[in-house]
Amino acid sequence: MRCPFCGGPDTQVKDSRPSEDSAAIRRRRVCPDCGGRFTTFERVQLRELTVLKRSGKRMPFDRDKLQRSIDVALRKRPVEPERIERLVSGVVRRLESTGDGEVTSEAIGEAVMEGLKGLDDVAYVRFASVYKNFREAQDFQDLLGTLGGRLAEDGEPAPEPVEEIESPAPPRRRPARSRS
Ligand SMILES: [Zn+2]
Repeated sequence: MRCPFCGGPDTQVKDSRPSEDSAAIRRRRVCPDCGGRFTTFERVQLRELTVLKRSGKRMPFDRDKLQRSIDVALRKRPVEPERIERLVSGVVRRLESTGDGEVTSEAIGEAVMEGLKGLDDVAYVRFASVYKNFREAQDFQDLLGTLGGRLAEDGEPAPEPVEEIESPAPPRRRPARSRS
């Protein structure tokens, strides 16, 4: 593995152990040329995935980006890191095992929502509000209806929409009576 700092060709593995869910091997590496330290992960990849975006553009699937959007939704929620890692791995496996290696950004969003729904209701609502680009209180009401009132029983208020995740499109103002 080439050193990401100086480009040196011979970095050494200092430490190697399974990640929290044992689905990956984590290696600490050090570069003898510049002393740089970095970590690599070795994971099973069933196939290369391409994402078909709403715009029609195609790009390579980025697991780290998926992980970040899930982390944002789960921020400060009482969910153990191993369970989050299993969620990410499970979503990626499901995407890898469908179709011809090309997934739509919608399919990714749906797969994440499915996983979050079983894991943490608040994170589910947060993720959905960004993914579905909510603009109105009614959107929240409709989604909360799908949870069967579980949030209300837990005494959790409906969260404000989070802005951290890249929205698919900038919010547009709707005419006041567009929902009739
Ligand atoms: Zn180096």
